Amino acid sequence: MQAYESSIIVDALNTPTLPRIAMFTLGGTIAAVASEGSDGRVAPQIDGAGLVRAVPQLAQCARIETVEFRRVPSGDLTLDDVRELADAVRDQCGDYDGVVVTQGTDTLEETAFALDLLLESGTPVVVTGAMRNPTMAGADGPANLLGAVQVAASREAAGRGVLVVMNDTIHAARWVRKTHTSSTAAFTSPGPGSLGVVHEGEPRFFSVASKRLVPLARPMSDIPSVALVRVVLGDDDRFLRQVAALGYRGLVVEAFGGGHVPSRMVSALGELAQIMPVVLTSRTGSGSVLTSTYGFPGSEADLLARGLVWAGDLDGLKARLLLGWLLASGEGTEQVRASFRSFGE
Ligand code: ASP
Repeated sequence: MQAYESSIIVDALNTPTLPRIAMFTLGGTIAAVASEGSDGRVAPQIDGAGLVRAVPQLAQCARIETVEFRRVPSGDLTLDDVRELADAVRDQCGDYDGVVVTQGTDTLEETAFALDLLLESGTPVVVTGAMRNPTMAGADGPANLLGAVQVAASREAAGRGVLVVMNDTIHAARWVRKTHTSSTAAFTSPGPGSLGVVHEGEPRFFSVASKRLVPLARPMSDIPSVALVRVVLGDDDRFLRQVAALGYRGLVVEAFGGGHVPSRMVSALGELAQIMPVVLTSRTGSGSVLTSTYGFPGSEADLLARGLVWAGDLDGLKARLLLGWLLASGEGTEQVRASFRSFGE
């Protein structure tokens, strides 16, 4: 386990009535600057106190305690890091009105969803980052951090699961996706849309909090490897035939459209589904996998009849996280099937 540094209190106004926010920093573009000899290329370097100092308005809305949890590009985070983060947030959130996590945007949708699976929703937890680093014109990190703190400090944010705030927009972890390489509006929630906005410093939610089936049971073991395979035009079963030998304990298939694969992949998928959970998602990125519309070999109805697990409207990235956690909690294929069903309904 990697130790993280102790925290500092930023309380410029010394106002004990302001909400208390714990801010866990993990690195990413929001904290990335150039260093000597880097030729202007940036890497995560700014600590939590530095991030807070760059946004004087924070002192008017919260008392913030920062925790240096990691300082990495988000592609270097692991599932164990996320599990440790969830434990740290759980341990501390009783002392705070809200929690903010800052990290790189590349894996933010996965971290936020994994936290959502693991945490109670009593204390708001908001994940944010930046698309433009602090050396760029129009850097978005300060505004995103301010918005995230304003949402985390709000009572209205409680009970909605883990939230993502980017570009003054509030997203549910379950739906949010990074859908652009560089735009400050990269984060969207295809399908159901976002939950609300931050307007003049106030969170405005468009809907009441909906029912949540999480948190999941605490994992009993390490999170087993789950493969994620995107089916492509002209695909065949070569990789599928290696999945078990490579040591994977589960598979998520991002199939065409409503949940379809080429007929030449069908027997390998059916055989795999007899020895490990094989979860059927769609590569389209929104909408629910069909169940009973098409009847050709490789259709959704055919694959489900061969034992594949219906993922509902979870995308492949999120289905992979859910499957890993269910396997780590000791669930076998039939329990996994029931868990995905209750999650998807
Ligand atoms: N481009 C990334 C970011 O937005 C880098 C990372 O994910 O760490 O932070």
